[in-house]
Amino acid sequence: MELSKRAKQLSPSATLATAQKAQDLKKTGVDVISLSLGQPDFVTPINVQQAAILSIENGEASFYAPSNGIYPLRQAIIDRIETDYGKRYELDEVVVTDGAKFALYALFQAVLNSEDEVIIPVPYWVSYAEQVKLAQGVPVFVETKESNQFKATVQDLEAARTDKTKLVIINSPSNPTGMLYSKEELEAIGNWAVKHDIYIVADEIYGKLIYNGYEFTSMIELSDAIRKQTFIINGVSKSYAMTGWRIGYVLGDKEVVKAINTINSQSISNCAAVSQYAAVEALSGPQNSVEEMRQSFEERLNTIYPLVAALPGVTIEKPKSAFYLYPNIRETLNLCGYENVTDFVNDLLEEAHVAVVSGEGFGTHDHIRISYATDIDTLKKGVERIASFIEKKQ
Ligand code: PLP
Repeated sequence: MELSKRAKQLSPSATLATAQKAQDLKKTGVDVISLSLGQPDFVTPINVQQAAILSIENGEASFYAPSNGIYPLRQAIIDRIETDYGKRYELDEVVVTDGAKFALYALFQAVLNSEDEVIIPVPYWVSYAEQVKLAQGVPVFVETKESNQFKATVQDLEAARTDKTKLVIINSPSNPTGMLYSKEELEAIGNWAVKHDIYIVADEIYGKLIYNGYEFTSMIELSDAIRKQTFIINGVSKSYAMTGWRIGYVLGDKEVVKAINTINSQSISNCAAVSQYAAVEALSGPQNSVEEMRQSFEERLNTIYPLVAALPGVTIEKPKSAFYLYPNIRETLNLCGYENVTDFVNDLLEEAHVAVVSGEGFGTHDHIRISYATDIDTLKKGVERIASFIEKKQ
């Protein structure tokens, strides 16, 4: 049967495709080291697991939940935001979604008309552009400077602005670069957006994973005007090691939140009730496991960064957040006789059995994304294999 035009033009997620390839190879008995995953390797904290089990045992998890999220979860989200950033939202300004990924999907469906433009700084997380296209919007890519740690400036954004620009996506901390916008940088972007009546989609899913003394600023902390112009996208996947539970949320303008609720009700009905009860405990219970996981990622970053930076031909500034390194390997490709980074990545998997993600999926041609969401021994072994692969190819 012929596929719809929408389905035909949709690219598969580059990160999931790489993970699948690595898994297929693993199944054939090959000892693959996967540095491609976008998820914490920790299991969900025990208090969160117990809350889920309780909701099964007492029957609460047996039934449909409200399409905008159970009341205690919306309340827990509001309280967490207030504790962390000192800003209070109302219950009708928050909607629970099937992960942050569906939060973005539903938001684009709720606000974009055909030909509305969405500014997306490059490199970008793999799903933004595809989701914008699915909503009939137009992704407008903005090149950023590697020397500015790939962070978009107001000048970069202004050069892309037209009278059709409706949204700009700001992902700080960034997947894939691990870079973090400063308060001043965000403020400048926020004021620019307010001035031109462009709404900001602030994807803050990695906001709790900040290392070596740097500080995260949420878009909503900057001013009331910027907050009004912002949709916060967040969820429990990365901070609470809960990628499998699928709980995210949108905070922002109530009319849009209501529309997302309607989209939920006509698509997924509601997020799994058991996951919602688990998320209540994650957000409102003890937060010490978040700090323990953060420290562990910090140690891994501090261990693996110098090893990656020392690989022949690699240039990379030290990331401050998330759990990715995004080294520029153009010189390495030259040394090894590759033109194309994806060919390098494919051979690295097939010949050295290390999975990393090609930068092509994130919109750049000279980079690979290495995830350090795995234990230190595996990380070291992975980098050693990359080093031997490069040596062999030179
Ligand atoms: N936003 C970014 C930048 C991400 O890296 C991810 C996951 O990889 C998501 C959103 C979606 O997270 P989830 O749907 O698991 O909540």
